[in-house]
Amino acid sequence: MDIEKTTSHNLKCSVCKNYLNVAPVLTSEDGKINKCGRCQLKGPVLNNRNSLYESIGAKLRFPCKNEECTDRMSWAEVQRHEKSCKHRKIECPFWNCREKDIKFVILNDISHFETNHPGSIHSGDNMTLNLKVITHHQSFMKLLVVDTIPFLMLIHCLKFGESLLIGLFNFNNKLYDYQLKIYSDKNSKRHSVFKENVLLYDEDQHCLYCLQNLCVMQNHVFSKRNPSSNQNEKYKFYSNIDVGATKTTLQTENLMIDVSIIEHQEQNGEK
Ligand SMILES: [Zn+2]
Ligand SMILES: [Zn+2]
Ligand SMILES: [Zn+2]
Ligand SMILES: [Zn+2]
Repeated sequence: MDIEKTTSHNLKCSVCKNYLNVAPVLTSEDGKINKCGRCQLKGPVLNNRNSLYESIGAKLRFPCKNEECTDRMSWAEVQRHEKSCKHRKIECPFWNCREKDIKFVILNDISHFETNHPGSIHSGDNMTLNLKVITHHQSFMKLLVVDTIPFLMLIHCLKFGESLLIGLFNFNNKLYDYQLKIYSDKNSKRHSVFKENVLLYDEDQHCLYCLQNLCVMQNHVFSKRNPSSNQNEKYKFYSNIDVGATKTTLQTENLMIDVSIIEHQEQNGEK
């Protein structure tokens, strides 16, 4: 059964006003307030899980929460679709823009970055990073634009530069990998190569300020506002490079890192 795209029915979350199609769905004692799984960290604390509604809701097809989108999806497809919908709007990942309540469709319009954060854009399918520069800045982000498709890269040094975290995130429904080629600045023949999946960007989990333990956004899983969340979980979205060991292996004092994005190749046996 298809749910109509209308504002008049009550199958919507009382907090975010999106459809009630992400579990867990929680309901207040009097049944008047319903909260969707997107809002677990937001709004009133509710303890009654509405499993009866969830089991019915899981059989329905819902419209996309984005007004302009005509796609319909089952419960299981909602979260992936919302993160890759071509009408998806994101808040600017930069701290100084956040309070201004700016939202934009990043997939086909990077003008916000061009105007406000021009130094953070890198065009082309390959970017070279210098470890010395990274450790100087400690943490930063870049918008990599590959054939007009944007990817967000977060870089963060841990333990005063002993470890380096690099994560790549995308906004569309294609699968990508990124490759890190790490080499000696003196002798590029010595190198190591890693390949990892580019992840769909989830602003509540992939946040540079959460990585730095500075974030105060209530809906961010790893912000200071949510002391109960397991902070170690936030590192799993990133490649973790052991700087000392890599320098020893490559017999060098400084490292260069080439980051490149490639379309995901299905491995044998992978579904
Ligand atoms: Zn909600
Ligand atoms: Zn959509
Ligand atoms: Zn901004
Ligand atoms: Zn955050």
